[in-house]
Amino acid sequence: MTSPPPPWALLAELTHSCPLHCPYCSNPLELVRRSRELSAEKWADVLRQAAELGVIHTHLSGGEPLLRPDLAAIVAAAESAGIYTQLVTSGVGLSAPRMSALASAGLRSVQLSVQHAGPAASDRIAGYRSFAAKEQAAAVVRDAELPLGLNVVLHRDNLDAVDAIVDLGVAWGAERIELANVQFYGWALHNRTALLPTRDQLSRARETVESRRQQLAGTTELVWVVPDYFDGVAKPCMGGWGAVSLTVAPDGGVLPCPAAGALPDLEVPNVRDRSLEWIWNSSPAFNLYRGTEWMSGPCGGCPRRETDFGGCRCQAHALTGDAARTDPACALSPDHALVRALAEAPPDDLPPDDARRYVYRGPRPARRERSRG
Ligand code: SF4
Ligand code: SF4
Repeated sequence: MTSPPPPWALLAELTHSCPLHCPYCSNPLELVRRSRELSAEKWADVLRQAAELGVIHTHLSGGEPLLRPDLAAIVAAAESAGIYTQLVTSGVGLSAPRMSALASAGLRSVQLSVQHAGPAASDRIAGYRSFAAKEQAAAVVRDAELPLGLNVVLHRDNLDAVDAIVDLGVAWGAERIELANVQFYGWALHNRTALLPTRDQLSRARETVESRRQQLAGTTELVWVVPDYFDGVAKPCMGGWGAVSLTVAPDGGVLPCPAAGALPDLEVPNVRDRSLEWIWNSSPAFNLYRGTEWMSGPCGGCPRRETDFGGCRCQAHALTGDAARTDPACALSPDHALVRALAEAPPDDLPPDDARRYVYRGPRPARRERSRG
């Protein structure tokens, strides 16, 4: 077997714990307990191995990575291995001293999640009062002169506010705003009925983003991640299975994408047992859907198979029960009617701003933590 090209990016899920309870969180329904998390020493070893393998960029994510008191040591380990670090955070816990310690350790940039432009709606969607902390976190990042990005998961409850969300990002000093239409994995799959937007909402939001993009050209970059249920086009998930990046879960499990742990037949390799080099090059998990040879059905002879890699394996499994089928988001898939039916289904009759519509990511928020917006 010839070795695949090396990965360049690693998503480090340092913990699944998080003060927020976003109903679209891509973490698995079964969250890793804190007692099973890798130590900072083990993360340092993983990052050294990753650099040797070719990784140049890591997202330090979670859950909420700031819940780890040893985060600065992990940043320093990445920095000394020569890996660029970006912190992906809800902003809760990003005080000025914490920011300063992380910047001194070598942190290069921060990506802040935002649920809505309005404080009450943001807190309601997050299931936790966190908007004020986010605003403060953005200021702290700016003061530290690190690049700030905003990431916003778009769904029925906030798509109509996309203009105000862009205003918020500009006011907070974001250089880049990622407007990612919700992808249905983990908790988002659980909450799909509540989160699915209408086609009208999407086309209005798309127009708004296009005009704001022209207005902000050269100052703030707007990224629009397509709503694949609605576009009839499969997304090139992760740039291909085991092609450019890997995800290390809090307990050391290594996955080709953050959602792949939900595939029942995947034997998830672990950095506690195996080297990252073996996992990337030789593990059955990383070779299962690598390249194009595994493809059958319409993908097998399709000219786009090297462009979108047949779409997403996790979505194929979630919708059809078979991860090797063509992603039903593709209009050429024999299962595309499944996606069309979901995209055209009428919204439920709960008002969009009603918190009862969500199953919040566990552990369930205590009553006092919920914001009623
Ligand atoms: S999506 Fe929300 S709940 Fe999930 S890790 Fe991010 S901030 Fe926490
Ligand atoms: S048939 Fe497969 S390779 Fe072709 S466009 Fe659809 S998902 Fe992509």
